Amino acid sequence: MDKNVGSSRMFYVCDDYRDLNQYHPGEDFKVIDNDAEPNHYYKIGINFINVMGNDSNGKIDEKTFRDQILVLNECFKYSRIHFVLNRIVESVNEIWFNWDPIHRSNDERDMKNRLGAHHEEGLNFYTVNSYSLDDESMIIGKATFPRDYYRSDNPQQDGIVVAYNTLPGLNDLFKGKNAVHEVGHWMGLYHTFQGGCNQYGDLVPDTVAHKRWNTGSADRITDPNNACNPSEKPPIRNYMNYTDDSVRNEFTEQQIRRMRYQLLSYRTGQYKLESSETK
Ligand SMILES: [Zn+2]
Repeated sequence: MDKNVGSSRMFYVCDDYRDLNQYHPGEDFKVIDNDAEPNHYYKIGINFINVMGNDSNGKIDEKTFRDQILVLNECFKYSRIHFVLNRIVESVNEIWFNWDPIHRSNDERDMKNRLGAHHEEGLNFYTVNSYSLDDESMIIGKATFPRDYYRSDNPQQDGIVVAYNTLPGLNDLFKGKNAVHEVGHWMGLYHTFQGGCNQYGDLVPDTVAHKRWNTGSADRITDPNNACNPSEKPPIRNYMNYTDDSVRNEFTEQQIRRMRYQLLSYRTGQYKLESSETK
């Protein structure tokens, strides 16, 4: 992956947008509701699961994991969702490390069955290699959704899978916001471009609907006029778009409301509710 980092042609996607089974327009509106615990923090422990290849390729040190938590806490500050370190688990497996979510989903399932036991204590956060989708794009993350966890007969499959070199401090392009995006999915957010200009969109009323993703840095945004309403601009700063880490810095109020309500509705046991005084 390193040789491609910084290439203007390269862009980075997550796998979940492909899975239309995870999109439930029509059944899902109830999750936009009043925040039942508006004055409380959700505290979520993270189980980092560092999957490495042979020769410890992809090994992440504890400081980098702690820096990732700092980035998450900064980006989720206004959400009143707070992250702490539960544990770091290391596993050497060349097959799991060289992750291929398109053609080898069985390997991903095996990895999670073997390593996913701590899902009841919070967020399982796997780090693996990135996957080259084609000459122009890579898959650097994947997430399970709250509703899927709630309904699952195999909850060990829960969690996010993140390309290790998108964690903060490991290269110039990424600043840890890829994980912010995946955690957004894990808490029930869709991409801002989900559904394009259809009547449902991303099921969040205050994000600008747009036809497809945007990528790039602030001065080189692709399709900068692709909002469905021509008088609006696409949400290039939103974490749930595909722009560079240097550009993304916001969740909307309704995205925050949706995340908090999805946690409350579907992820019982995976967080602690705390008053702000005891955070
Ligand atoms: Zn995504």
